[in-house]
Amino acid sequence: MGSKHKCTICNEETTLHYNPMPEWSIDGELCGDCYSKKLAEFYPGEHTRVNLE
Ligand SMILES: [Zn+2]
Repeated sequence: MGSKHKCTICNEETTLHYNPMPEWSIDGELCGDCYSKKLAEFYPGEHTRVNLE
């Protein structure tokens, strides 16, 4: 079994984890949802790579 990771923001266990950008001042890993939200938060003009509905 693969190693489990927990999202720092929503505390969900996630198999797909993303490293936050240094400027986000987040210590830990993020799930795809929170990563996308942070991206949108910090870079509102840019489109993320992650597909959200
Ligand atoms: Zn999350």
